[in-house]
Amino acid sequence: MKIAVCVKQVPDSWAEKKMAGGLLDRASVDAVLNDLDEYAVEEALRLVETHSPTGASGEGSGHSITIISMGPDRATEAIRKALSMGADDAILISDPALSGSDALATSLVLAAVIGAKDFDLILCGTESTDARMSVIPAMLAQRLGFAQLTFAGSISVVPETSQITIARMTDVGVENMKAKLPAVVSVIEKINEPRYPSFKGIMASKKKTIEVKTLSDLGIDPATVGMSAAWSEVKDAQARPPRAAGVKVVDDGNGGNALVNFLVEKRVI
Ligand SMILES: Cc1cc2nc3c(=O)[nH]c(=O)nc-3n(C[C@H](O)[C@H](O)[C@H](O)COP(=O)(O)OP(=O)(O)OC[C@H]3O[C@@H](n4cnc5c(N)ncnc54)[C@H](O)[C@@H]3O)c2cc1C
Repeated sequence: MKIAVCVKQVPDSWAEKKMAGGLLDRASVDAVLNDLDEYAVEEALRLVETHSPTGASGEGSGHSITIISMGPDRATEAIRKALSMGADDAILISDPALSGSDALATSLVLAAVIGAKDFDLILCGTESTDARMSVIPAMLAQRLGFAQLTFAGSISVVPETSQITIARMTDVGVENMKAKLPAVVSVIEKINEPRYPSFKGIMASKKKTIEVKTLSDLGIDPATVGMSAAWSEVKDAQARPPRAAGVKVVDDGNGGNALVNFLVEKRVI
């Protein structure tokens, strides 16, 4: 099975974020591998461990895991983390013209890379922790003409019949869905517990190939991506106001009523 895992480098969730010129100022904060994408990498590793006779991917096994990311050059740090978990190689699409790209442009670029190879399965996180649109997996499936299975809490594959089954977990329940590969699947955090990269994995990742592609390598016109081609525009942004102090109720025998009045006032009940 040839698996591609789409990963995004995002600002550290704990970092104080600022806007600059209608864009999130990513350069001034620490960057990490998007949380949910770690689960997607882990799931790829588990699928290979289940189906490869040697329990591993790589040359001669018939199985491979390729990390795909669109981002600036520093996105290699996030890619190395995915490689140190056990993925085989990676493709980074990096081009100055991509700065300010919206979801449509991001999916266009990722689909161009994925469509040029014969992947069986594309794994994504359900959402990124910075933009949180949760649309890239659906857009990729549409652009590639692949089956789309989202919010997967479990995945099983029968390689002989190219059938994939997921448990799709949403707020309203669990749906079991089947499709034929190739498919794009997005995963939720309940699917597994991502492994920590081992020392051996970290050392091995330094020798793994990260192929860097530009827009011209992909035959994509720079005018179709980037800020000027974005379908949405950030007009204004305000810093979140500091948190106001909470209301403290001392229970002098009337605490229950005070609590109910507070909840009514806030229209919770
Ligand atoms: C006007 C405008 C300007 C923007 N400028 C920038 C910018 O300069 N830099 C920037 O980083 N973002 C920018 N964004 C945000 C950018 O459009 C989104 O980050 C991008 O479209 C992906 O959407 P998302 O992060 O909400 O992904 P989601 O749909 O929430 O992500 C789901 C999954 O898709 C995959 N995925 C998402 N993005 C990538 C990626 N880049 N590479 C590989 N896999 C991915 C991951 O598996 C992820 O878990 C801009 C958005 C707008 C509207």
